[in-house]
Amino acid sequence: VQDQATVDEAALMALGARGLIRPSATALQVVLGPIADVVAVEGALAGVTAAPGLAVGPVGWLRATDCDVPAEGCGIAAEEAAFDAARHDLANALTARARIAHGAERAIVEAHAAMLDDPALLAATRHGIARGASAAAAWRAAIRPQGEALRATGDARLAERADDMRDLERQLIARLMGLETTAPVFAPGTILLADDLLPSQLLGLDTATIAGIAVERGGPTSHVAILAATLGLPALVAIGPALRDVAEGTRVILDASEALLHLDPPHEKIAAAEARIAAIAARRADALARGHAPCHTRDGQRIEVFANLGSVADATLAMANGAEGSGLLRTEFLFLERETAPDVAEQTADYQAIADTLAGRPLIIRLLDIGGDKPAPYLPIPAEENPALGLRGIRVGLARPEILEDQLRAILSVRPVEQCKIMVPMIASLDELRQVRTVLDRLCAELGRTDRVPLGVMVETPAAAITADLLAREADFLSIGTNDLTQYALAMDRGNASVASALDGLHPAVLRLIGETCRGGAAHGRWTGVCGGLASDPLAVPILIGLGVTELSAAPAVVPDIKAMVAGLTLPAARAHAQAALACSSAAQVRRLAREFAA
Ligand code: PEP
Ligand code: MG
Repeated sequence: VQDQATVDEAALMALGARGLIRPSATALQVVLGPIADVVAVEGALAGVTAAPGLAVGPVGWLRATDCDVPAEGCGIAAEEAAFDAARHDLANALTARARIAHGAERAIVEAHAAMLDDPALLAATRHGIARGASAAAAWRAAIRPQGEALRATGDARLAERADDMRDLERQLIARLMGLETTAPVFAPGTILLADDLLPSQLLGLDTATIAGIAVERGGPTSHVAILAATLGLPALVAIGPALRDVAEGTRVILDASEALLHLDPPHEKIAAAEARIAAIAARRADALARGHAPCHTRDGQRIEVFANLGSVADATLAMANGAEGSGLLRTEFLFLERETAPDVAEQTADYQAIADTLAGRPLIIRLLDIGGDKPAPYLPIPAEENPALGLRGIRVGLARPEILEDQLRAILSVRPVEQCKIMVPMIASLDELRQVRTVLDRLCAELGRTDRVPLGVMVETPAAAITADLLAREADFLSIGTNDLTQYALAMDRGNASVASALDGLHPAVLRLIGETCRGGAAHGRWTGVCGGLASDPLAVPILIGLGVTELSAAPAVVPDIKAMVAGLTLPAARAHAQAALACSSAAQVRRLAREFAA
């Protein structure tokens, strides 16, 4: 079973929900200390934001129950045949769904289909049947321990993949038992409540009737969280057992941006929330209508607003939202979930398709960010105790030069040649950039290219941020990956739900590193951009501009909002605001300041 982390990342990027999860009140505050910016609110349950947004409506429960299965089979041949037929049926259904699905949904359904072919799972099930178990019991006995093992790793991302295993267990057993797989029907505007929502359960619903989602368990990077964000549904997860007491039909306000579920609020509060929802919708429509022009601040500073991409579908969405290009193409999606590395022709075709969709707009292609917790079967990286600190990003490319060379060749083959820039992830020292530049120059010479192909550094390590002046002397641009920069600056694993509530890129330490990066870039006339989650966070944008950032690469869906926000700023105001933010003592204090600035 492979980790789906990068499918998540590619998908989430398409949604606007990637990056750092907003702080919220959880039991973990006890461990982490009080989070000043989340106040316990009477009559409300707190959770973790999986997809931001606001919704009002009555709740509808979706309760998942395990169905009983016969322990013993009716003969090995019959059970084998039943298993094969059910698996075949499910595989067909998943393939059919994948064919019509896009983006995140497609990636998830394909991941489920791949799991269904897992040889170890199939062998374990057949072994169970051979020992006399029914096909359903054998399947459950085979798949469940795998899910539990993932959960037991303590790794939040792997634990969330356990949900996918459970989903697959449930779907195949439903077929074996001839159970009704049709989904319940909810009234339009329902806030869906679940103890643990599985991706197929959400996809099986008529999501047009769902206004938001609140889940007892789950994690902010789970597949269901990604799907919710794709569908534009506000979603709150990890609310805890208190959710169980919320009765069917209770009216609630789901404020997923603030990580709160207000139960049975008074009429005035509902009316105020409904007015806010209408105002947000009107603002969005307005931003979208005006969002296709190049972006400037109110006093004329050009700020490029780009989109982060992982697929052609993302590029299409980015174009529809007025993105001026792409500041980050995450190429990992091409490399995972397969047995061999994609060859040069395949990579070229994929990059070309995305470049074509952008119709000549700039495309910054990030070299493969793989390894560590994003394993590819053909990359034999030994298990590491600290994958985030191990062989990942450009370290893999330098250790496996054939992979780096193939990718560079593919990028150099995209036409028109001037459309693409190349960006190197996880740089920790100048020497790494030099090594990539040497390979790039050699390949350019081989291909007869004489122009200098722009090569930029992704600033994701504190080392890169504080040596930005050294890097900028040789890099053509700098782009800050605030997701990783935050994780490494705060020493908090971005995939670990236990620290999610404190992992905030608006921490003054991270802002100071961003300021240093901009200063280092400017010292050598290089532009500095942000392609991490902070570029999609409206509260962060004025601070980033004030620190000297001139390019923002955001999730495609939020590009119009970011453009509208930039258009309302002046540089002196943004600079003064940024200086005040640098002087704050906590991320919570910065967020308060940013809210006042936005008000
Ligand atoms: C980042 O780290 O901010 C970034 C954009 O890269 P990724 O999220 O793909 O690691
Ligand atoms: Mg990163």
